[in-house]
Amino acid sequence: MERLSKTIKAAGKTIGFVPTMGFLHEGHMSLVRAARQENDVCVVSIFVNPTQFGPSEDFDSYPRDFQKDKKMLAEEKVDVVFCPTVKEMYPNVTLSQTPPDIIPPKNLTACLCGAFRPTHFQGVAQVVDIFFHRVKPDRAYFGQKDFQQTVIIKWLARKAHLNIDIRVLPTIRESDGLAMSSRNVYLKPKERKRVIILFQALQLAKELYENGERNPQRIERKISNLISQNFLTSRNQEMKLQYAEIRDAETLQSIHEIKHPAVVAVAAIIGKTRLIDNIVLG
Ligand code: AMP
Repeated sequence: MERLSKTIKAAGKTIGFVPTMGFLHEGHMSLVRAARQENDVCVVSIFVNPTQFGPSEDFDSYPRDFQKDKKMLAEEKVDVVFCPTVKEMYPNVTLSQTPPDIIPPKNLTACLCGAFRPTHFQGVAQVVDIFFHRVKPDRAYFGQKDFQQTVIIKWLARKAHLNIDIRVLPTIRESDGLAMSSRNVYLKPKERKRVIILFQALQLAKELYENGERNPQRIERKISNLISQNFLTSRNQEMKLQYAEIRDAETLQSIHEIKHPAVVAVAAIIGKTRLIDNIVLG
């Protein structure tokens, strides 16, 4: 991959890079199409990264279908599919040996998802840093769906002086509003119907904001109540709201008033599935 990237760059061509964990859907493909359009060469990686999963998380059962992924990428005329093995990515490093200069700061990693997945974003920064050095992209593409991740990747690109344009593209949704995710296959039919409440909560936040509400705590309370009430009325389905929070979209810090762009982010567990979603206000 490194040799290929050097050859491409030496020929004066640009590289657009889309990192994924595979089991591709339209959300991934929207990034792939943008990378193809905006660059001479499009590289897509497929790698289920063990260092971003916690010990009790779904690394082993994470859905995989390499043949289908390859077919979808061939249909989009992707130039390079890079799918290294764990050994190739981490010949002699472990998460605990991550160089300190690419460990993202606590103020970005300890809140929101980081509060429930304490080592997740360190693993993400580690793997993306390795990919960036191998692929040497001019532009890299990420989905707004993983909002906190995009903030951390922007930090990484700045911190490591990588000169990579980090492009963040909108969340692609199912027709009823559910954000597409590889993990949606875990949802049982009854759960699938229920989870739409997350999208509805974000719509409520948007409505309140558009009607002039600028107090984040009041919006948080209303959307938390909406989700929790819905979860309480569900029988025999284990549902738990992890957070429904509004934070500054750039720094991820708590705010007392919505003045700058702010992210409304939610995470919930439904049965075996952990779902996240967000929108940006202002
Ligand atoms: P993953 O394979 O889940 O690691 O995702 C790879 C990339 O696709 C990440 O940048 C995600 O944010 C992005 N992505 C995942 N789901 C969506 C979606 N529904 N819409 C847009 N981008 C997405």
